[in-house]
This record gives sequence, structure tokens and C-alpha cells, in this order.
Amino acid sequence: MYIVLLGAPGSGKGTAGKVIAEDLNLAHISTGDLFRENLKNETPLGLEAKQYMDKGELVPDDVTIRMLKSRLGESDVVNGAVLDGFPRTGVQAKSLDVMLNEMGAKVDMALNIDVPFDEIVERIANRRSCRGCSEIYNVVFNPPKQEGICDKCGGELYQREDQKPEVVQNRLEVYKNSSAELINYYDAKHVLRTEKAGDKAGRTSYDVAEKIEKEIKNGWN
Ligand code: ADP
Repeated sequence: MYIVLLGAPGSGKGTAGKVIAEDLNLAHISTGDLFRENLKNETPLGLEAKQYMDKGELVPDDVTIRMLKSRLGESDVVNGAVLDGFPRTGVQAKSLDVMLNEMGAKVDMALNIDVPFDEIVERIANRRSCRGCSEIYNVVFNPPKQEGICDKCGGELYQREDQKPEVVQNRLEVYKNSSAELINYYDAKHVLRTEKAGDKAGRTSYDVAEKIEKEIKNGWN
């Protein structure tokens, strides 16, 4: 089973993706994390991606698609995957269909986690990430036990360049411009599922994940 996660940066799709992947025994593939890993290891791909990531812009399709294709070929992708942050463009969506088709699979669900932008801006500004294991914290709602230090691995917590307010604004603009196409694309394929989350909706992306999981386990599709 392949689940694509749509939803703005800061919508909580990363959290939802990890939970769904773990419980349904699917690989969790985050293109943002893959880029950051490449960046940390100073690979040519990482260095190329950095110039776009620091500004909150999308990395070019050809680079991103190559990276994802290679990831889909890894051994943990046996039962399928939750794709977090891919596709981000129409070209990526189409190429994902081709890649999955070659593997005898398809996108079974595109889960759109819908959170109002004003809630998102505040949320991202409060975010801190671990340099070691990429775990995410919220300094207000989900702070680490010890300030600045990851509960899981003891790594240093930091504010990513792209979590700074001016970059967040740009990322949301980029998202707004690209998401409509993807939403229409998956809607036309009858696999789109939109779920509201956030303070106003009164539920978190974690709640959404649990709901979706239950449905899948009960034979959704
Ligand atoms: P977000 O919180 O914006 O979802 P991610 O961690 O998914 O952040 O991605 C961080 C950055 O990595 C993006 O701003 C973009 O520069 C790059 N990136 C991630 N996924 C893609 C993609 N599918 N296509 C192009 N660029 C991507």
C-alpha cells in the first residue's frame, strides 16, 4: 500500500506519516529528511539541494525524482510506503505513478491534512529539530524534558533555517501554488482524502492518523 501525504509544511503530516507507517508496517519516506541526510553527509546531491532548501524553494524535479526512485528500491519497502513530502509538483506526481506502476503498485490514498495557515505559521516558529535523529519538538506544546536536548537520542535541538518566519511564509506560498494541482490530480483518481486538523478543528494530525489507520485495518478501499 502506498499513501501520499499532502498538507502544508507544519500541518503535522510528518507526525501522522510516522505513526501510520509504523502501525501499518510501511516504510516512511520523507524527501525533506532524505535531502537533509544528504546535506549532513555533504553529498553532491545535498550540496545542490541546499541552495533551494535554505530559501524554502523546491529542489528541481529531476534531482528529487532520482533520489526518490533510488529510495523506493531499498529493501524496507516491501509492503509499501508512506510518502511524506513527495510528490510536490504535477511532474513528480506523474513520475511517481510510473515508478509505482513498474513495481506493480499504485497510490492507494492521498491524505490531505488541512490546517489553517495562520495556525501553521505560529506552530513552525515554535518548532525545534534534533540534529541527531530529526525528531521534532514544539517548545510550547511538546517541549523536550531538558531544554535544547533531544529526549530520544540526546542530540542538540536547533531551529532549521527553513523554520524561520520569513522562510516559512515563502514555503507556505510555494505550497499554496503547488498543492491545488496535486489535490485535483488525486481527486480525479478518486484516492483523495481530506481531513481537517489543528486547534480550530479540535484534533491533531495524530488523531487523523489514528482514524485513517483504523479505517485501513477495517478494510478501506
Ligand atoms: P516541509 O516541512 O516543508 O514539508 P520538508 O522537510 O518536507 O519540509 O522539506 C524541506 C525542503 O526540502 C523543502 O522546502 C524543499 O526545499 C525540499 N524538498 C522536500 N521534498 C521535496 C520535493 N518533493 N520536491 C522538491 N523539493 C523538496
